[in-house]
Amino acid sequence: MEKNAGFMHALKCRECGREYPLTATHVCEYDFGPLEVAYDYDRIKRTLTRNNIASRPKSMWRYRELLPVAGDPTVGQQVGFTPLVKADRLAAKLGIRELWIKNDTVNYPTLSFKDRVVSVALSRARELGFDVVACASTGNLANSVAANAAAAGLKAYVFIPSDLEQGKVVNSLIYGARVVGIKGHYDEVNRLCAEIAGKFGWAFVNVNMRPYYAEGSKSMGYEIAEQLGWQVPQHTVVPMASGSLLTKIRKAYQELIRLGLVREQPHRIHGAQATGCSPISVAQKAGLDFFKPVKPDTIAKSLAIGTPADGFYALKVMQETNGSAEDVTDDEIREGIRLLAEHEGIFAETAGGVTVGVAKKLIASGRIPSDESAVLCITGHGLKTLDAVAGHVGRAAEIKPSLREFEALVATEDQSIVNT
Ligand SMILES: *Cc1c(COP(=O)(O)O)cnc(C)c1O
Ligand SMILES: [Zn+2]
Repeated sequence: MEKNAGFMHALKCRECGREYPLTATHVCEYDFGPLEVAYDYDRIKRTLTRNNIASRPKSMWRYRELLPVAGDPTVGQQVGFTPLVKADRLAAKLGIRELWIKNDTVNYPTLSFKDRVVSVALSRARELGFDVVACASTGNLANSVAANAAAAGLKAYVFIPSDLEQGKVVNSLIYGARVVGIKGHYDEVNRLCAEIAGKFGWAFVNVNMRPYYAEGSKSMGYEIAEQLGWQVPQHTVVPMASGSLLTKIRKAYQELIRLGLVREQPHRIHGAQATGCSPISVAQKAGLDFFKPVKPDTIAKSLAIGTPADGFYALKVMQETNGSAEDVTDDEIREGIRLLAEHEGIFAETAGGVTVGVAKKLIASGRIPSDESAVLCITGHGLKTLDAVAGHVGRAAEIKPSLREFEALVATEDQSIVNT
């Protein structure tokens, strides 16, 4: 075992509890259960206080004792601490007392929450001596691995479904990463990557590095609680692809409670999917604790995972917290994107449309009571999925450079400002 592993204790099987050394490995040899990072919470409790967190730089690394690196992070030191926006106009529109947007559309450097997981995975990969990093991605992860590897001087291979949005492909190529499009959907990309990871000695951030990688998502939960004045929100709505982010937000809240940094109070965690790829929400709505794999067909490509690795645990979190899952159609996703843009001035990608659309349904059906408070996790920027909305937002007016033409245009469109 590593001599000085920071505040990490071991990798631990979620099923049988067996412990493993803190290497690049992700499944239990006995029952194939996923491995998770375990920490020395007693030591963390002695070091980590609200005051010393508040005195640190505004990045996700202000919670470094709770993130799985042994030394100081060396990749993505500026990632995280994105705005938590009080969304009064959207709250009124959706009919809820209090609403907050955790705005990871502006996460540094690649405009999605994936920068959180990648900064942890690459920092840890370097500690373990890797110089080639790789991933299987639905898009945003590829962007983030490519960018953060470039900045760190690591070689990167990223594997994506070949039919991904142009914006996401260009956003990986620009950093000089080797981009490999696989003619298949994400689950096939992922299966191939598991084989490649076994054969090449690379750090695959979401395969052999997954236990470390996944922990990066917790930072979103810590920030939400701190930005609410050290409180766990009554409701958190989280988009689900593999289901990992949802389970890690729950873990973050539980850790803060355990460390005495927030008061224990009931908190419901709700999951959001696209109807065209909704294995987890379908199972949740049917009251099942397992899901049936599906073949994705949705504009929310970043969430298009038909065999979600953490689906089982995501269902468990929703069950434990009295949360619900829901899913929305492609049209409802576009409507969700517009609602957020028109009421809060935030342009989210399709996954954001999923989250807003699902929140709308949960509020309308009373699963999120209208007199309570909710946080929506908005995880990626709309400029990366322009194709999904381009034909649905109307067109720019076109006139000659003439005041008369402009007056004529206004007269036909907006009576309220004609006679001024
Ligand atoms: C990856 C991703 C998610 C969620 O991913 P999980 O696999 O469930 O952790 C959510 N939103 C966006 C934009 C993503 O790229
Ligand atoms: Zn096990």
